[in-house]
Amino acid sequence: MTGSQLVAVLGRGVVDASAPVLLADDFGLTRGDGCFDATRVVTDASGTRVDNLDAHLARLGRSCRILAMEGFDPDAWLDLVEQSVQAWRTPGEATLKLIVTRGLEHTPPRHLTGILTITPLDPVGIHQRQGITIAALTRGYASDAFMDAPWLLGGAKTLSYAFNTAARREASRRGADDVLFMSTDGKALEGPTSALVWAKDGQLFTTQHDGTGILASITQEMVFAHAEDEGVETDYVLADLATVMDADASWMLSSIRGVAPITAIDGVPVTTDAGLTGRINRWARFA
Ligand code: PLP
Repeated sequence: MTGSQLVAVLGRGVVDASAPVLLADDFGLTRGDGCFDATRVVTDASGTRVDNLDAHLARLGRSCRILAMEGFDPDAWLDLVEQSVQAWRTPGEATLKLIVTRGLEHTPPRHLTGILTITPLDPVGIHQRQGITIAALTRGYASDAFMDAPWLLGGAKTLSYAFNTAARREASRRGADDVLFMSTDGKALEGPTSALVWAKDGQLFTTQHDGTGILASITQEMVFAHAEDEGVETDYVLADLATVMDADASWMLSSIRGVAPITAIDGVPVTTDAGLTGRINRWARFA
């Protein structure tokens, strides 16, 4: 570990953060052919804990299956995470990233590449838990585009996030903090790195997975499970922007930034609900 980042490599363990970890013909580098998962690490006086590690490892395995990348070994990853967490001493919140690529194109041996990083959480993300403004931007496909089209890799957390970061730059140009992706038929999808949840008449809603290709959010699933335990009804639907703007409250949810209440969409202020935001934070274990 050097500076403020920890780096580990599957099959090697924790390495010097400035050591080379990729070869030039790695499919992850040359084609963005791979997947990743990310969650929060919290270090305080009681030690270091990783949020929902089992769920994130399961989703990483699922992403590998969608990409038809064979050889994902959850036990080897668990081992690497444990070694890395033991070596991580920086207090506060951090991001744990698990990155898997298809491996090397020309150089044997042919096996998946696995890289882990832990990096202190960006203070901007922490600040955005107070509220975010959103720009609604097209994602460029219809809400049913992923139906019967597995080659589009719907539901996989692939390495190909260049358009997600480009959309964030566009939001910033428009003076907004984050993006809500819209389908070409006008349905709200998800953020570049977060799930959309909104409340209406005491019920919680999020985007349906079928056909939309969105990522199943572990934070949203946890929030819905706890909400139902407390008698709050939940549903997965397709909604247009007016429905989201007319909600009693809305949030962008993700494992690292946590629960970010939406305060405005395309420059128009929207309603927030501090009480419900508090409950959602508790359900997401961010309180
Ligand atoms: N949707 C996308 C595209 C994401 O990249 C993420 C998180 O990285 C999410 C939703 C939220 O998922 P989670 O709550 O599991 O972090």
